[in-house]
Parts: sequence; C-alpha cells; structure tokens
Amino acid sequence: MIGPGADPFVGGGLLVATAIVTVWWAFVFRRQLPLERLLRDKEAELASARDLAARLLDAQALASRPAQALAEAAGRALDALRVSHSDLALAVVSRRRDGTGVLLAHRGGAWARVPVSCLRFDFVLLSRGSTDGEAVWELGPGPAESDPLARALSDLGFTAAVVRGWRTEEGAGALVAASSRSGPSLRAAGADLAMAAAALRATAALTEGLVRLLETRERLQGGLSAAMQELTQTHDRLLRKSLEVKTLHDVAMALSQAGRHSSSLEAIVAIVSKALEADLVAFLLLDETTGELVTQPEAFGVEAEEFLYRISLEDSRSSSVRVFKTRRPFITGDAQNDPGTIASYAKMWSIHSLMVLPLIVEDHVLGVMRVGSHRKNAFGDEQLSLIQVIAEEVSILVETAMLNRRLSETAEQLATLNRMKDEFVSTVSHEFKTPLTTITGFLSVMLDGETGPLTQQQMKFLQIAKAAAKRLSGLVSDLLDLSRLESGARMELRPLDLLELVSQSVENHQPAAAEGGKTISWTPPAGLPRALADERWLGLVVDNLVSNALKFTRPEGRVAVTARDKGEFLIVSVADDGIGIPQEDRERIFERFHRASNRAELNVPGTGLGLAISREVIAKHGGKIWFETETGKGSTFHFVVPAARSEEDES
Ligand code: ADP
Repeated sequence: MIGPGADPFVGGGLLVATAIVTVWWAFVFRRQLPLERLLRDKEAELASARDLAARLLDAQALASRPAQALAEAAGRALDALRVSHSDLALAVVSRRRDGTGVLLAHRGGAWARVPVSCLRFDFVLLSRGSTDGEAVWELGPGPAESDPLARALSDLGFTAAVVRGWRTEEGAGALVAASSRSGPSLRAAGADLAMAAAALRATAALTEGLVRLLETRERLQGGLSAAMQELTQTHDRLLRKSLEVKTLHDVAMALSQAGRHSSSLEAIVAIVSKALEADLVAFLLLDETTGELVTQPEAFGVEAEEFLYRISLEDSRSSSVRVFKTRRPFITGDAQNDPGTIASYAKMWSIHSLMVLPLIVEDHVLGVMRVGSHRKNAFGDEQLSLIQVIAEEVSILVETAMLNRRLSETAEQLATLNRMKDEFVSTVSHEFKTPLTTITGFLSVMLDGETGPLTQQQMKFLQIAKAAAKRLSGLVSDLLDLSRLESGARMELRPLDLLELVSQSVENHQPAAAEGGKTISWTPPAGLPRALADERWLGLVVDNLVSNALKFTRPEGRVAVTARDKGEFLIVSVADDGIGIPQEDRERIFERFHRASNRAELNVPGTGLGLAISREVIAKHGGKIWFETETGKGSTFHFVVPAARSEEDES
C-alpha cells in the first residue's frame, strides 16, 4: 500500500519518467517543426504557381490574339519570376521553323545586346535546354566559350545560366535565366523556372492548337462564304432565267390568242414592260406613203400627243432609223447623253436606258420596237437577247395588227360609200317613179286613140316608148325593192297558201308564154301545207323565177313549175329547157346587176336585180335558194321556205 508519506524511490521514478517523456517530445518537435514549415512554404509556392499558371493561361487573351498570346504570356511569366528572383536576367526564346530563335520577352540584363544570331536552337545551349528540359551552364570567361549564346551571356558579365526548354507538336521554346552571382541564386530559382517553363509550354501548345483551330475556321469560313456567294449567284441567275421563261411563256400565250383577241399586242406590251421593268414600250412602223416611222397606238408609257411622233427615214441621227436600216439592235445606258440618239426625244420621254430592235417579217423590215427606262444602265445583254426573241415573235402580230387596222379603215370607207350609194339609188328611184307613171299613163291614153287618130308610125313609136317606160319602171321598182330589203325591211310572216300564190303567178304569165309559143305546166299537189311567208315578197320571188324561165327559153320552150312538201319546209321548183347558165357565171348569178354572158342569145331585157332580190327575200324567210343548170339545155331554180306549224296555221 502506498500512502502520503510515499516511498522516495517511487517519487524519483516519476520524475525520471516525466523527464524521458519531455525529452522525447522535444525530440519529436524538433523533427516536426521544420517539416511543417516546409509544408507551409510548399503550399504557398503552389498557390503562387496556380496564380501564375492562371495568369499565364489567360484564355480570353489566347482566344482573341493567339499569335501574340505566347509573347504576352512569356512577359507575364517573367514578371512573376522577377518578383521572387529580381537578381536574375530572364528571357523567353521561341524557335522559328528555320531553327532560329526569336526573343519573345526579357526582363533584367542587357538582352538587347545579345545578337539574334546567337539564338539558334541548334546551338549547344538552347538545343540542350529544349531537348533535355534543363541545361545548367557555368559560363567561363570570354572567348573560351564555344556556344555563341553562352559567349554572349558571358560577355554581358553573367557567370551562370539555366535554360529550361520545351517542345510542342510544331515548335520549341526556352526560358533562359542568367545570373552574375553563379550557382546558388539559380538553384534557388530552379523550381520556379521549371514551373514557369511548364506553364509556357502549355501556353505554347494551347496557342498552336488555337492557331490551327482559327486557321481551320478561316478556311471553312472562306469556303463557306465562297459557296454562299456561288449559291447566291446561281439563285440570282435562276431567278432571272425563270423570269425570262415566264415572260416568253406569257408572250407565247398572248400570241396564241392572236386573232381571237385584237388586244394581243397590248397584252404583249404589258408583259414586256412588266418583265423588264420598262417605262416605255412602243412600236414604230414605216408609213410607206410618207417614208416616216410612226408610233403605233399599242404602246406603254406613251402620252396621247406623243403618238404624233414621227421620224423621217432621212434622219440619220435617230437610233430607230439606224436600226431600221441596218437591221441591227441598238442599246444604250444613257440615251440623253449618247451621241447615237436624238437627246431631245430621249428627254421628252425622260428616258435614259434604251433598246431598239428591228421588226422583220420574211426579210421585210416593218419598223422598230423601242423599250426604254427612266433609270440609267437598266438593260444589259440578257435583257437585249430576251427582247430580241420577243421582237422576232411579235413581228408577225405587229404586221397583222397593222394590216387589220388598214383593212378596217378601208372597210369603214367602203361602208360609208355604200351607204351613200344606197341613199342615192333610193332617192333617185323615188324621183323616177312619179314621172314614169305619168309618162306611161299619157302614152296609154294616146295609144287608146283618146287624143285623136294616130298614124301607123306614130302608133309604133308610142308603143316602143311605152315598152321602154315599162322597163324603166321595172328597174325603178326593182331598185326600190332591193334598197328596202337591204335597209332592213322585215317580212310579214303569215301562214300562206303557196298553191294559190304559185297558181296566180303562172296565170299572170300565161299571156307572155303564149306570145312566144311557150308553155307553162303547173300541177298543184294535193294536201300541201301552208307556208309561213310574206305574201308580197314571196310573190315577187315566184314571179321573178317564172318570168326568167320564160325569158331564157327559146320559142316553144317549156316551163314546169312544181311544189312539194318537205316536212318542215316546202320546196318550189321552176324548170325550163332554155339556154342554161354558163359555167363562168354560175358563182355570181345572185349578185346585183350580174347578167350571164349568154343572155345576148335571146336578146331579152332585164336589170340583173331579180335574183339578188329573190336571195334576200328567201334568206329573210329562213330559207334557201339554189339552181341546177346545164348550158344550152336548161335550168331549174329551187327555193325552200318554212311550212306553217299547225298552231300558226290555225291562228
Ligand atoms: P334579169 O332577169 O333581169 O336579167 P335576174 O337577176 O333575174 O335578172 O337574172 C340574172 C341573170 O341570170 C339573167 O340575166 C340571166 O343571165 C340569168 N338567168 C336567170 N334565170 C335564168 C334561167 N332560167 N335560164 C338562164 N339564165 C337565167
């Protein structure tokens, strides 16, 4: 048992133990303390290295200026190194393709005095540095040094140098540190130099990669923009081509409508003006009577008074005249200042750009086509060749339009003349009618002996006069009938007993037939329906046919009249065995005043109006009249008129 008054041996033992522990701790602490310090130092180094690396690898600077980035990074690395190693002269050298070096950055020391020729990577110092990673060089005095860089540094008063090199895929570089105090200060900086060199290597590699990337990007961009440019050009070309094709299609459509629409030329003018964005499209055609080129009405952008614009073919200043004469197109980008055009006309139309093309049909020049624009240089070769194709296509249309215009002008003049003639005939016939009636009346009175006895000769002369007056009155009434028909006389269509009408006519002609020893046969068919006809006018037709048949048969000739039911129509035929109608007259026999060439054979009077009147009358009934004939043997005239329908019949 151990009590308060303890054994002194035990107390001494405790003291010894305590001392041993203390010594042990002291020993441990002595070993630990420097280690901790070293750790702290290393951590600080690491932090500064990280900071340096972060600053060196300034990504933004790399991206925007990769070519200078390495030099800037080198500068920053050297600045950082100089903070802790201010006694060192530092430089960063980079290798060019040819092996020579270039001084990227330097701090401390008179680097400017180091000749560039010393910075070759195939020289000892730099090449060792860049191959082995590090070269430590003790610099001897002056000329004894064989390496030019070592010699140069030695000349500058440095006694030692360290070169830390690096290689990248495409290049190499080195960090050179020189000291005039030799060994210790360089050794102290060794780790920092190694770290800086590593960081610069990384920067160099990154820079190379970036430069490659940028070059690729530029190449791609270049290729892309060239492709885009070509694409845009192709697109524009296609657009122009499609516009051309559409224009030609529209023109072809307008041309195919030609003949049906008189406005085709206007349509083409509109198409051309739209397709070429032209402000003027006009055709100037040659007026052969005056020898001038005249602006046609089918135009675009031409004011009313400008249609009076005419150019004499003598005027050689005019581009239109030249094109007309040479048959070669003309184009100018500024007509108002082109000696090849008449500036005043270009100004009148406010035209700058102008194309003039010849209009040719079968080697005959009709005129020219002018296409103008208010803009300068609006037309080029493409527009010219397009408009040339169009000009060739429209030439015929232009000619047709021109001929049509002339034709309709002539037709209008003819219609006016015809109207005047009809009015004249109608007036004169009316004026003839009354005196003729008077003459015939007095002649009849005298021939009847009411004015006293007549000698044989007087009788004969008066009879001739009466026959002539009768013929004259026949002519007058034919003329009046024709004039009435042509001025629109309407048929009074009513159910009509055709048998009665024909019988009456045959009976009326019997005396004349008998006079010439001729016969008229007429057998009315049973049950013939009634015709739908105008009694007076149809009576004239039957009288005319029977009278002609008698007139153009020889003495003792025979005339046969027949009528037949043809369902909806009734047909009446008058046949004779007379002189017939010669071949050459057949086509014109229904024309006014036309009488056949063989009429002289029988010397019969006539006006040449009867058949013309008959054709008009039958046409107005909705019927038809025609004939069969054999020269010298006879003719048969037929006509059809509508039969009256039963309800019309009943009414
Ligand atoms: P016109 O009898 O007054 O001469 P038409 O117009 O009736 O006039 O007849 C025109 C011409 O047609 C006649 O002049 C005659 O030459 C010819 N012609 C008409 N009918 C006959 C016929 N039946 N036979 C022969 N020629 C005829």
